[in-house]
Amino acid sequence: MALKDITKETPSGHYDICIIGSGPAGLTLANELASSGKRIAVIESGEVGKTPYADALREVKNTGEIFIRPSSRERVLGGASTTWSSLSAPLDQIDLENRPYLSHSTGWPLTLSDLKPYYRRATRYGFPSLESFDGSWLAEARDAGDFAFSSSRILEKTFIAKDPPWNFGQKLHSIFNAHNVDLYLNATVTSLSSKKDTQQTYVTSADIRTPNNDARKISAKMFVLATGGLENARLLLLSRNTNPHGLGNNHDQVGRYLMNHPKGNFGIIKLTKPVKNLPHLFGYLRDGWSGYAGIRLQDDSERSLKVLNSYLRFEPIFSWTDSQGITALIIIVKKAKRFLNWWKQKQKNIVQLRDWNETGDEVNEKRGFNQKINWLSSVWTIITDMPAIFSYIYYRLNNKKELLVKTVRLRNFMEMEPIPENRLTLSDKLDANGNALPSVALNTSTLDRRSLIELHRLFGEEIEKNKIGTLESDLEKVRPWPINAEASHHLGGTRMGIDPLTSVVNSDLRVHGVENLYICGGSVFPTSGCANPTYTICALAIRLADFIKKEIQTLET
Ligand SMILES: Cc1cc2nc3c(=O)[nH]c(=O)nc-3n(C[C@H](O)[C@H](O)[C@H](O)COP(=O)(O)OP(=O)(O)OC[C@H]3O[C@@H](n4cnc5c(N)ncnc54)[C@H](O)[C@@H]3O)c2cc1C
Repeated sequence: MALKDITKETPSGHYDICIIGSGPAGLTLANELASSGKRIAVIESGEVGKTPYADALREVKNTGEIFIRPSSRERVLGGASTTWSSLSAPLDQIDLENRPYLSHSTGWPLTLSDLKPYYRRATRYGFPSLESFDGSWLAEARDAGDFAFSSSRILEKTFIAKDPPWNFGQKLHSIFNAHNVDLYLNATVTSLSSKKDTQQTYVTSADIRTPNNDARKISAKMFVLATGGLENARLLLLSRNTNPHGLGNNHDQVGRYLMNHPKGNFGIIKLTKPVKNLPHLFGYLRDGWSGYAGIRLQDDSERSLKVLNSYLRFEPIFSWTDSQGITALIIIVKKAKRFLNWWKQKQKNIVQLRDWNETGDEVNEKRGFNQKINWLSSVWTIITDMPAIFSYIYYRLNNKKELLVKTVRLRNFMEMEPIPENRLTLSDKLDANGNALPSVALNTSTLDRRSLIELHRLFGEEIEKNKIGTLESDLEKVRPWPINAEASHHLGGTRMGIDPLTSVVNSDLRVHGVENLYICGGSVFPTSGCANPTYTICALAIRLADFIKKEIQTLET
């Protein structure tokens, strides 16, 4: 078993491949490469569980409108997959295209067809099959619903989550039983040392600090940065021994074009006829999976309106919606994992969600699902909210009981255009190891906001035309912009592209001008669409592993 604590064991010898970070990206890559027989080191800043030292390393200085929360990242084995919701969807065709109305983007140097084989292979890591997203997973619930959307202007996009979500650190733990793969915990990489010859730069070692600030080093033939969307860019900026502006930063591109999926509630649908049944839009659970349809514009509508790919989710308003007691109750029930998982696995028929907290989106992020419960205050909140709790429990347990919904709230998820001003730089505040913490400037642009306003407008017209209801939304007038909560999706910062003048990695994810350094994670996304990113991150990790297997043979001959 090669699971090593770097504070007790000093790394020895030379590795073939050094992967920095043990989140979904790093562990997928390590798993794909393990069978190659190459000597692989995976370096992880945290431990198997949370520690105060590693938690403090998540700090970010925020200077823009969208704030990065510490709980949007986790410094532990498994990375943010220890708290994520596992909601997944592939990117849409339009996301990878060159959309001429995006002034700072030429699209992805890959097509959706290039990505599809890797989405398919990602199924072995726990993701649903690619085919589930073509509408087939939702079909039964859609048929059972009072209405569905399909028009030349808007469409339903499928989102599916494993319920409960899986943790990559637990799921892929057996990699470290392989004789050729070592995992170093408590090993925070603080910079990459490199050497330069006339043509190229080569990384020679990952420079590491322990929680006691003792120095260590790991040398290897190839290095992969898989430290999460923000840290990938930060580590390049901190690696300055051959370039004072940071490794791979000859053209001032590192840290730029940051994106997120800002989210928030805005817009109320007053239904013409109250609905009894709408599981595919309200969200439901079946066979250990949960999911829903989001509403987005058809690709052609986005092209003709020159807008981005944002989407809307339906949140039915029940008499108990937004009750603090129910939120407290759901958190407690979610903590009672064994009972809950047993119950969820038993549900072979459609189980409609009865409160938006059930999907975990907000509960996990805002209230920090990993945090300890304050039992006294939770129980008190539940006691003071008894009428709402009784109604909720009654309808939750009697899932087949009809419940009329007259009003629906819209939950909005935005695509952000990649602009150079949205960027990560180094702040003047230092972390425990004496390194500059990241400073993040992230603001919505006029196009970001106009895209969502247009989606509301078209969607409003559509529901009126089909006599479904009316949309109350004055998004174009409201100030400040209300959709401003980050979604823990840290994208861009080391974007992929053909031209080194406007990107950081090439289509093989190799850093331009650095012969043996690759980047894996959301930071390489040139644009982000509206899909949750981890499915695509894992697909890219599998693709990168295939490339590295071939490339390392070339290096050796
Ligand atoms: C509450 C929450 C809910 C989410 N829900 C979803 C969802 O439903 N669907 C979805 O697709 N995505 C979701 N995400 C985002 C998802 O978790 C990330 O996309 C995914 O974890 C990114 O994987 P990664 O391996 O690139 O980075 P990470 O998971 O961030 O892993 C990076 C790893 O690198 C380590 N590391 C960082 N810096 C260093 C260093 N200097 N030296 C050594 N090691 C280092 C970290 O400790 C960590 O283990 C959610 C995130 C959160 C926080």
